[in-house]
Amino acid sequence: TNIINILGVDFDNTTLDNFLDIVTKRITEHRRTFVVTANPEIVMYANSHSSFNTLIKAADFIIPDGIGIIIGSRIIANPLKERVTGYDVFIRLLKWGSTNGKSAFFVGAKPNVIKDLQKVVSKQYPGLTISGTQDGYYKDESSVSEAIRVASPDMVFVATGSPKQEEFINRNLNKSEALFMGVGGSFDVLTG
Ligand code: UDP
Repeated sequence: TNIINILGVDFDNTTLDNFLDIVTKRITEHRRTFVVTANPEIVMYANSHSSFNTLIKAADFIIPDGIGIIIGSRIIANPLKERVTGYDVFIRLLKWGSTNGKSAFFVGAKPNVIKDLQKVVSKQYPGLTISGTQDGYYKDESSVSEAIRVASPDMVFVATGSPKQEEFINRNLNKSEALFMGVGGSFDVLTG
């Protein structure tokens, strides 16, 4: 995939289908993968917080979540192919994981939401192994890190909002040879 820089952030110019081909192959090969889904708020935040900017530069992929990024790419006459939302990638990966017998760990959202998510995922994606769940209001991160390390899942979805979720992923990427992705409010949406 080629890269389009928007206000200092390097976006992957891809499509949902193409992106899924790339990341599912990486998951199968147990290649650690950090995916950031960035909207205009995240681009602006990265511009004013250099440590966050450095952190997302370490991501393997930054995908354009939000029509504002697509419009921005047209303004600079370097149009991105399409919007690739975190939610769409999340749902497609659950489906792929279910079909292919993969496992996932879920971190984030309120305790009742993560409880509902467990029910919804096991019902709608029965072939996916839920390696663990943790609500997003934990006090001791080290116990969450250790749970991920022990479970060694194929995918880790973190839904605690930006920049918290990306900072968590940055600190915990070495815990599993997995795909790590911040998915914002996706647990709330799926359990809606
Ligand atoms: N959240 C969390 N822990 C926190 C703060 C937020 O788990 O300390 C969760 C919140 O419950 C919601 C999700 O993060 O499920 C997304 O929050 P928000 O909509 O603020 O983030 P955005 O999607 O705008 O990045």
